[in-house]
Amino acid sequence: MKILLVEDEEKLAEALKRGLEMSGYTVDIISDGRKALTRISLHRNDYDVVILDLMLPSMDGHEICKEMRANDITVPILVLTARAETDTKVELLLSGADDYLVKPFSFAELSARVQALLRRPSGSLPQILYAGDITLNPATREATREGRELPLTLKEFGLLEYFMRHPNTVVNREDLLSHLWDFNYVGFSNVVDVHIKNLRRKLDGEKGDGILETVRGVGYRLRV
Ligand code: CA
Repeated sequence: MKILLVEDEEKLAEALKRGLEMSGYTVDIISDGRKALTRISLHRNDYDVVILDLMLPSMDGHEICKEMRANDITVPILVLTARAETDTKVELLLSGADDYLVKPFSFAELSARVQALLRRPSGSLPQILYAGDITLNPATREATREGRELPLTLKEFGLLEYFMRHPNTVVNREDLLSHLWDFNYVGFSNVVDVHIKNLRRKLDGEKGDGILETVRGVGYRLRV
């Protein structure tokens, strides 16, 4: 799950990024309003949630919300606001934000709101994901195969969740990189292969049936 955090208070932004990363999210930070809108417009499918500060340089949060919705960008938006006036809240919801938090807030509160937004568009999806004999619980970060618990790292867990949301589909490295690594990541795409290899080994256990296939020259597929 990938989050775009638009916040110009550097310390707050860094603290939130750290906290969210500890919870298993991938986070990009942008501090400028107009740059944020450009990023969202060009990479609308990369983000699962946008956390948006209201007072920003060059373009404020209201305008960004309105522009996003006017361009049919449906990613959930959580606004951070320092103002508590009722009319601001109404305005925010009218401009297309899904929810808002008044500063100062606790990290637990932010985390709960983000989780609620991630569930909203997929309200009909079960909380626990099933694919063949694999189960994955995003809330508790537990995954099992045939009832055997899989000791996954955060990245492996993120990869498995992505595959379980796209079963029997060929997923390429670029999709995985853009969903699970932030844009400051400078490395080689073979980092994906390394994590896939480890995930595959853990999934296979003694069964060794290669449920996570390599599709030569294209990517990977979870075959269930
Ligand atoms: Ca601000």
